[in-house]
Formats: sequence, structure tokens, C-alpha cells
Amino acid sequence: MTKQSQLILAIVARYGHVTADEVHREAKKSLPKIAVGTVYRNLNELAETGIIKKIEVPNAPDRFDKTVAPHEHLICPNCGAVEDLMITGLDTLLQSAVGEKDYHYCLTVSARCENCNRIP
Ligand SMILES: [Zn+2]
Ligand SMILES: [Zn+2]
Repeated sequence: MTKQSQLILAIVARYGHVTADEVHREAKKSLPKIAVGTVYRNLNELAETGIIKKIEVPNAPDRFDKTVAPHEHLICPNCGAVEDLMITGLDTLLQSAVGEKDYHYCLTVSARCENCNRIP
């Protein structure tokens, strides 16, 4: 693993649910010359090898997650906060509905987060 990808992995592990831009901003503190393209490439490579997980967010940049176990996400439409959402049995349900093992899905639920709910 290169120095860059080690750093990028450490940032994802520390913050979770980060966008490539956020990783880039943080990575520059340690490697001031790191290019945003390098960050993108490394994030995608790490996601392809299954070390981290890419989260597709509708109408927003992809995020990268340290938790690779199956889980979905709640995204606050107000502030953009991302929270983990576990739906027990979803995988089994989907598999029986689709009838195949090989499928891809991306589920994000839009709901106001606790912080935004507090403000009337
Ligand atoms: Zn919010
Ligand atoms: Zn997550």
C-alpha cells in the first residue's frame, strides 16, 4: 500500500462517511502536494478491493464508509449529515424478490437528523 493510500484509509477510518473533497482537504495537512485526482483514484481502488465502501448519494457526491458490512444510510436533507441505518433481513428480502444473487442496489433514506429536528 502506498503512503497516500495509507493516509486516505486512515482518514476514512477516522471520520467515516466522507466525500473525496473532505478526504482531500484532510490529506493535504499531511501531504500538502497530494492532488485531488490521486485521492479519487485511491478511494475508488480501496472501495473496489472492499477495504472501504462507496456510498452512492442521490444528487450529491459519493461518500466513502469505513463500515463495509451491509447497511443503509439515512441522509438529512437539511444539513447533509449521514447516519448508519440497519434494516434486518433486507438482504434476504431483496434476494428473494430479485431471484438472483448477483445484483446491486443503493438505498438511502432521506430524513431529518436529530440535530435538525431539535430546531423547529
Ligand atoms: Zn440535519
Ligand atoms: Zn455507513
